[in-house]
Amino acid sequence: MITTTTVKVGEQPTGDPMEVPVIHIQGQGNGPRVYIQANIHGAEVQGNAVIYQLLNLFRQYPPQGDVVMVPQANPLGINQKSGEFTLGRFDPVTGINWNRQYHFDHSMLEPFTQDYLDAEESEIRDAFRTRLKQQLEARMASPWGLTCGQHLALNLQKMAVEADIVLDLHTGPISAQHLYVPEYARKRARHFHIPLNILIPSDFSGAMDEASFSPWWQLSQHFALHGRELPVMVDAFTIELGSQEHLDVAGARQDAESICNYLQHQGLWLEHYVQPEPSAMQACYLKDYKAFFSPAGGQVEYLAKLNQQLPAGEPLATLWHFNALVGESSHSRTITLPCDCIPVLHFASASVQQGTELYKVLTNTFRL
Ligand SMILES: [Zn+2]
Repeated sequence: MITTTTVKVGEQPTGDPMEVPVIHIQGQGNGPRVYIQANIHGAEVQGNAVIYQLLNLFRQYPPQGDVVMVPQANPLGINQKSGEFTLGRFDPVTGINWNRQYHFDHSMLEPFTQDYLDAEESEIRDAFRTRLKQQLEARMASPWGLTCGQHLALNLQKMAVEADIVLDLHTGPISAQHLYVPEYARKRARHFHIPLNILIPSDFSGAMDEASFSPWWQLSQHFALHGRELPVMVDAFTIELGSQEHLDVAGARQDAESICNYLQHQGLWLEHYVQPEPSAMQACYLKDYKAFFSPAGGQVEYLAKLNQQLPAGEPLATLWHFNALVGESSHSRTITLPCDCIPVLHFASASVQQGTELYKVLTNTFRL
C-alpha cells in the first residue's frame, strides 16, 4: 500500500506552515526499512526525478521492508531564487549549509555500551534507536528554541532515524555522478555501480548521511573497545547524481535502478529484479579528493572532461583576461595540475574570482 502525507518542517513569517511531501510504501514482509530524500539543496532537483522513478519501480516490485521517500525536502531552498538561478545551498539567514544541521550527541555512547554489553543484537538495535529518537525529541523541545534550518533538519531526521538504510540524493554544480562511501560500507557500495567514489571517515560533522550512520558506527567502536564485535546496523550514503539546475526524468530511471541494485543486495526484495549496467568504479580517500582554486580572476574555459583520466600537466582549463588583450601582459593562461587525476565536477559559472573552487578531482585513485 502506498500513501502520501505532508510533514510540517517550519513556519513562514505569515504564519503559514512549510511542509514537505512524504511518500510511504508499506513493506510486504521483513526487509530493511529505507528512507530516501532529495533536494535538500534547492538547485539539486534531479533526485526528485529519481524518487519518481523509484516509486514506479516500487509499484512494479513491492518491497519487503517499509520505504519512506521525501522529494523536495527543503521548501525554503527550492524557492531561494536569484535571477535565473536557484541558490538554495545555505540558509540565507544564518549562512549555514542546509545539510550540516542534523544532530547527534555522542556522550550517551559509553553509558549505553555498558548497559547493553551483553544484550542481544536486536535488543541493542531497538534500544539504541529509541535513545536516538529521544535525543532528537529533547533537542526539538529546547527551551531556547531552534533556527529555521534546525527545525527543517530535525523534522527530516525524525523520519530518517527509523530507517536501516538512508539515502540522501544530491548533485554537484556541473558534475559527474559520484558517491560518498563511509569506509566501513565500502564493499556494499559497489552495488550502486557508480563510477566515481569518495571514501569518507565514519565520524559525524552534521550531514544527513553521517547523522544516520555515524552513531551506529561509533556504537560498534565502543563495543569493540569492550571486546565485543557489533556490526554497524545502519547504512547511509550521499549520492551525487550529476549537475544542479538539471532535470532528466528518463535518465533518472538508470539512477533508480542502480539504487535498487544496492537495495536488492540488502534484502529489500526476496528476488533480484534489476540488472544495472556494469561500470568501472574508481575511488579515492577523502584526503585525496582535491579542490583546485583559481589562481586569478577571469573567465574560464573548462577543458578537462568529467569522469575521464587527466594526466599530470595536461590542460585542465584556460583562464582568460580580456582586459589585457592589447599590451605586454599575457591575456590567457593554461591551467594544469601536478598529478594524474579524474575530474569529478567544476564550477558552474565561466566568470570567477581569484580563489574560486574551479574543479574537484580524484587523485591517487584505485578500484573500489
Ligand atoms: Zn547537495
